Amino acid sequence: MGSPAACLFDLDGLLLDTEPLHSQAWLQAASAFGLTLGPDQLLALRGRRRLDCAEQVRQWIEAAAGEVPSVEALLAVRQPIAEALLPQALPMPGAISLVEACQRRGIPMALVTSSSRSAVALKEAPHPWLASIGLRVHGDDPELAMGKPSPDPFLLAARRLQVEASTCWAFEDSPAGARAATAAGCRVYVLLPADGRDRAVVRAQLPASCLTLHSLDQVQLA
Ligand SMILES: [Mg+2]
Repeated sequence: MGSPAACLFDLDGLLLDTEPLHSQAWLQAASAFGLTLGPDQLLALRGRRRLDCAEQVRQWIEAAAGEVPSVEALLAVRQPIAEALLPQALPMPGAISLVEACQRRGIPMALVTSSSRSAVALKEAPHPWLASIGLRVHGDDPELAMGKPSPDPFLLAARRLQVEASTCWAFEDSPAGARAATAAGCRVYVLLPADGRDRAVVRAQLPASCLTLHSLDQVQLA
């Protein structure tokens, strides 16, 4: 397959093991408004921007519990929980060595994340190895009209790296992210969940062209 012109990395659930922490924060926030989120709902929130997730959870609460919290009220419960949990996230297996391998080979890298700039700062503080990914597209990037699953974040990253998106390899873990990267024309690798039930649900939602991984250790850059 040759080498990628650039590697575009998702952050949550791909380089850092934050998804169980995000799920815990959404579970607690929704339960404060009378809704117990199920596993499929938690999977559906992955890879999307905080405000998009909050709007989705608000709709679920409205449909199930009748109460209609504002997005702001939901986030007021959710954010302190998330901010306490997220700095505890560990690197995903193989993440550090994959980033280091790109750096050694001079392959340009970008972080393409739905997380806001401030949320990324919080999460990456304990992980100095992430600093080698210099180019960032955040969920609140001023040049970004639409978040994942729209292709915009990946197209913006490719444009900033001055490469064609079709020559980039994108690394994702969520169906929303995989759809975004596929629509942008990238070669897309999807890191599957370790849990068998979640894995089946994620697989069923991936574009057919995605390549799947059980660990980032499986990636061969050349
Ligand atoms: Mg992700």
